Amino acid sequence: SREWQLIARPVGEPKPTDFRLLRAEVADPGPGQILVRNTWLSVDPYMRGRMNDVPSYIPPFQLNEAMTGGAVGVVVAAGDGSAIPVGATVSHFEGWREYALLDAAKTQVLDTSKVPAQAFLGVLGITGLTAYVGLTEIAPVKEGDVVFVSGAAGAVGSVAGQIAKKLGASKVIGSAGGPQKVKRLTEHYGFDAAIDYREGGLRTQLKQAAPDGIDVYFDNVGGDTLDAALTRMNLFGRIALCGAISVYNEESMPAGPPHLTLAIGKSLTLRGFTIGHHMKAFPEYIGKASGWLAEGSLRTDETVVDGIEEALNAFFGVMSGANTGKMLVRLPEA
Ligand code: NDP
Repeated sequence: SREWQLIARPVGEPKPTDFRLLRAEVADPGPGQILVRNTWLSVDPYMRGRMNDVPSYIPPFQLNEAMTGGAVGVVVAAGDGSAIPVGATVSHFEGWREYALLDAAKTQVLDTSKVPAQAFLGVLGITGLTAYVGLTEIAPVKEGDVVFVSGAAGAVGSVAGQIAKKLGASKVIGSAGGPQKVKRLTEHYGFDAAIDYREGGLRTQLKQAAPDGIDVYFDNVGGDTLDAALTRMNLFGRIALCGAISVYNEESMPAGPPHLTLAIGKSLTLRGFTIGHHMKAFPEYIGKASGWLAEGSLRTDETVVDGIEEALNAFFGVMSGANTGKMLVRLPEA
């Protein structure tokens, strides 16, 4: 089995030499254990934070040990007393490797009769739930609201834009990088307006797209986009601070948004969240999202990279915008 390890803590932008792909022994499953052949690995921006040795909501990757992350796979061997049979599809957190030895009692079996297994890493997994919680609990959308979503062509953002509409938003605006993504926002995901942050002039673009201001901003990127949104927020507006990918590779913390003080006069609520504290919403969300997928009213994209050896490039890709929708690594089934 091959596994990815972090061997040096990146300063600024990670380099290929900060990582290595190594062969590791695969042990037979003991009592209550299962051996899983991973078939899909989740590739996520938060992994950049885990490369730093700093206290956070999720522990840092340890140097010279297998990295971890969301994954799905198929059980290829089961130890005595394992409640999960060989052949079952499961989701777990021992990604970045080809085989995972797991405690069956702590592993989630997936029903793949209606959706492909990898959906549980995206729209029916953490990224979909994040979009839903952000717009229902953190910065609740009310009927008639104008909603702005950044990182809108990504896994969280593309789902957030569509959920905003379902929650009654009168207008949903998205931002993404490059003309193709911007076109996809309106033509495929049903955003009412879209802006290309790489074009610059964010405040002007946002003013044109949201002449009546913004009531709810779902922030995936931080930085200049957050600042531009602050200038357009309406009285009593709400901002869900979900991610800040524009600063994840910064060597030192950049200054906060220059227009933050506008939050006072506008009586804004800015609320950060990590989805781990909101897992109780999962059953409610899964029920709704499964229905939307079945009726075809929730659209998703996947960007798939093949092979464990390409997982690192997939990570660099998700950080630089190579993906539309969920970034995934596909590994062979057998
Ligand atoms: P995405 O699928 O959105 O991929 C990341 C995207 O970020 C890229 O495709 C790229 O798109 C965009 N990007 C990269 N650099 C910049 C930049 N400088 N400015 C603006 N956009 C940039 O990833 P996810 O959907 O998995 O995650 C989206 C955000 O949500 C991340 O910030 C992530 O950390 C956060 N998150 C937070 C969670 C929580 O619990 N709070 C849970 C899950 C995710 P483009 O081509 O448009 O630049």
